[in-house]
Amino acid sequence: MAMEQSYIMIKPDGVQRGLVGEIIKRFEQRGYALKGLKIMNVQRHLAEKHYEDLSSKPFFPALVDYIISGPVVAMVWEGKGVVATGRKMIGATNPLASEPGTIRGDFAIEVGRNVIHGSDSVESAQREIALWFPEGVTEWTQVAKPWIYE
Ligand code: UDP
Ligand code: MG
Repeated sequence: MAMEQSYIMIKPDGVQRGLVGEIIKRFEQRGYALKGLKIMNVQRHLAEKHYEDLSSKPFFPALVDYIISGPVVAMVWEGKGVVATGRKMIGATNPLASEPGTIRGDFAIEVGRNVIHGSDSVESAQREIALWFPEGVTEWTQVAKPWIYE
């Protein structure tokens, strides 16, 4: 089975608000496998590179300042459909439009404090994982796989 990976990042507000465990729990309980995990302060150039597609947007300077304002939790989650399903679990970009039950819909109000990032495509995920985990991720076999996948 082709296993997909997504880059998921708890933003500084999520860390400061004590949501790290809650967010990890949701991905873990869904059945996804944690392949990379670290807490880190982000250099400005890394935040700018991560969001380079948005560099012409008026909110870009504030977005970069937000991402470097405190530590983030950088993660790689693996499993079937994790990119699209991760985005569904996270909810709409603007938390006021995020459905209750999603991470943003349960824990956020404003777009500039929306707690979490998730890759928007498999290609973005590959780019973001290479950017945030240049050292590589951790290989391990999820022994529960036959109980999660048929
Ligand atoms: N953002 C913002 N104002 C906007 C749109 C986006 O501050 O009007 C921020 C927000 O934190 C968002 C991030 O920029 O999560 C990246 O925007 P994108 O459109 O990629 O949303 P996402 O993929 O995070 O849902
Ligand atoms: Mg995005």
